[in-house]
Amino acid sequence: MATAGSPTAGNKPHAVCVPYPSQGDITPTLHLAKLLHARGFHVTFVNTEFNHRRLLASRGAHALDGVPGFVFATIPDGLPPVDADADADATQDIPALCHSTATNCLPHLLDLLARLNDPPVTCVVADGLMSFAYDAARQIGVPCSALWTASACSLVGCRLYRSLIDRGLVPLRDATQLTDGHLDTVVDDAAAHGMCDGVRLRDFPSFIRTTDRDDVMLNFIMREAERLSRLPDAVIFNTFDDLERVALDATRAAAHPRPVYAVGPLHLHVRHAVPTGSPLHGIGSNLWKEDGLVNWLDGRKPCSVVYVSYGSITVMTREQLVEFAWGLADSGYDFVWVVRPDLVKGDDTAVLPPGFYAAVEGRGILPTWCNQEKVLEHDAVGVFLTHSGWNSTLESLSAGVPMLSWPFFAEQQTNCRYKCTEWGVGMEIGSEARRGDVAAMIRQAMEGEKGREMRRRAAEWKEKAVQVTLLGGQAKANLEKVIHEVLLSCK
Ligand code: UDP
Repeated sequence: MATAGSPTAGNKPHAVCVPYPSQGDITPTLHLAKLLHARGFHVTFVNTEFNHRRLLASRGAHALDGVPGFVFATIPDGLPPVDADADADATQDIPALCHSTATNCLPHLLDLLARLNDPPVTCVVADGLMSFAYDAARQIGVPCSALWTASACSLVGCRLYRSLIDRGLVPLRDATQLTDGHLDTVVDDAAAHGMCDGVRLRDFPSFIRTTDRDDVMLNFIMREAERLSRLPDAVIFNTFDDLERVALDATRAAAHPRPVYAVGPLHLHVRHAVPTGSPLHGIGSNLWKEDGLVNWLDGRKPCSVVYVSYGSITVMTREQLVEFAWGLADSGYDFVWVVRPDLVKGDDTAVLPPGFYAAVEGRGILPTWCNQEKVLEHDAVGVFLTHSGWNSTLESLSAGVPMLSWPFFAEQQTNCRYKCTEWGVGMEIGSEARRGDVAAMIRQAMEGEKGREMRRRAAEWKEKAVQVTLLGGQAKANLEKVIHEVLLSCK
């Protein structure tokens, strides 16, 4: 893989961007990398070998190497190679990946950094879950900024894990605490540390739902959240102050004297800052091939379609899939339902119940992956039934689309809480996703009083998200500060 600079590299500053190797991290990191390139940086974007193969397969090499001074490089993720086709196009096991990147990747990154010298590397931007890259930056003596790709409120939750453990609330005593009301315990002082009032254990990022103090994810997240406040020279968030001021301020206090900058929503920021027609827009990050479906939406009335997607990692049982299927069918609404082949736990393919296709004939379309930003921005889409990943949440808010939330894991529980009680744009679907509830909530969101109110609030957030990313907006001003105060500073 080529890692050399382009002939035009000259004396440009050289940013090495290191995303965590999953879809929801690669996408925002790529957005930030494009912004840096547009501001005159030479960029090396570091994928794992596994993901880069997937990116090449889904986008084609021509889509990745057409921009002078924007170069992809790879490092191994340390996991054993996979050979089954299904596994080669599926999200990797997250705990194994976290353990492996933290344990194995530092020497590979250092080796890569040593080879990147045209132009010489001048700064590193590392995902907040790839903290070994802060160490690499320190070793080569260049400034480093972390990029936390999830919500700021979720980071506050992760930082509070240690105090939940000290108070005996976590780990769980046994599995009965998942259902006996323990998770409804209100963590009173969480609000004093930057979370919202009345936040319950169930609203914390889900890695506390373990009975094992040595749980890989609990310890990995705790460690990464703590290192984030101490090691990089700055922390960048894909969010904006109006949306998450309290959590951002709490993070500023924890990271002091290191600065904290909110530069999101990054997908809008790129749209407004990178000139239309720039080849940067052609570099995509989707690891799955997109099915085209905008024509299908073109024929539909405004706000008449339910868009359903659970992101790149969520899996469910076959029973839950069947309940969603009949819930959508019974709602009576048209829908776009993204069904990834690896959506059902342990199954090779997600198989829909007999009779479903006949019941929804002409009303629905089921891509395996789509261009979600475009779908959410289509005026036919009235509500988004989502797992509440942070990118999906921001993309929906930015498009003014209210949400039905079915959180699966990680920070999705926290995002769900905030969108339901703080931002006024969401309603939560119970974890069992009973078909009657799914249908009723879709109807309520599409045509009920609550739905109208959520749509009004979502439109307000859209307006704010657009404003902050326009010329003169806070996100743009903050990006300039990151560049001048951190990335271009000398160590
Ligand atoms: N996405 C997409 N097409 C799909 C489903 C998802 O482009 O059919 C994108 C979506 O736009 C978002 C990302 O995949 O940018 C998912 O990130 P998120 O943080 O929402 O969830 P995760 O996959 O990390 O759980």
